[in-house]
Amino acid sequence: MRKSFEARFLGQKRSTKNPFDLSQDQIVRYSRQLILKEVGGKGQKKLMSSKVLIVGAGGLGSPAALYLAAAGVGRIGIVDSDKVDLSNLQRQIIHSTRTIGRPKAVSAKDAIQALNPEVDVVTFEERLEPENALDLLKGWDFVIDGSDNFRTKFLINDACVIKGLPFSHAGVLRFIGMTTTVIPRQGPCYRCLIREAPPPGAVPTCQEAGVLGTVPGVMGAIQATEAIKFIIGAGNLLVGRVLYFDALSMRFDQFELRRNPKCPSCGDRPVIKDLSQVDYGNVCRVKAE
Ligand SMILES: [Zn+2]
Repeated sequence: MRKSFEARFLGQKRSTKNPFDLSQDQIVRYSRQLILKEVGGKGQKKLMSSKVLIVGAGGLGSPAALYLAAAGVGRIGIVDSDKVDLSNLQRQIIHSTRTIGRPKAVSAKDAIQALNPEVDVVTFEERLEPENALDLLKGWDFVIDGSDNFRTKFLINDACVIKGLPFSHAGVLRFIGMTTTVIPRQGPCYRCLIREAPPPGAVPTCQEAGVLGTVPGVMGAIQATEAIKFIIGAGNLLVGRVLYFDALSMRFDQFELRRNPKCPSCGDRPVIKDLSQVDYGNVCRVKAE
């Protein structure tokens, strides 16, 4: 009879060095991905020494954080200044009825550590602002944009492009989701897709227009997948591609996104070289051009 994957290695005595150089518990915990040749012991070690920052512990950040923690990402940072509200729980599944009123960053940290105590969780109970963005983004390998507004999305894009930091972008509304992965200097950025934020009120928010909870669930899981693939160096990332998801027709479509040589953020002659050049308070317009 075929022995299970973990039984083969756990059958070896503790003194026997297992091929992954992981603890017995780690071999069991991560067995279903250790068996994948794209992960293996080497990939698992990479995950365990990686650092991912999640901006927003909401509908996108919840599944992203849980899957990254489950996969064994060594350090997860959570940036969120909000408190858990009853109306969040329809989609922000990292929080619970028990944590209503608590800071989202702390509520997310508790849930991550309940799932996987090996993860080092760093909380930032603040908003990402032009003044703190470059500092907050220091020392991370990959960023998940789980924010719910254009202002933060453009800020994450510009800050990550300045720092050369890869990130996953996603946005959701009603039954629609879209996502792309940005690796600065290797592919296009979010401003190559949308040059400037639409004027306030032009695009409804999830609060105004609604969103089905599973839609950010699907998108957040894709964002975590992209982070894991980037860390272990497997497969093709969503760089230069925008993935579009329509839950009502249950279709995934994708279109190619090219780097715009005139992009103010990542173009041949970028004008956004520091974040004070952009009016994020208004509609993310580039001041100096
Ligand atoms: Zn660009």
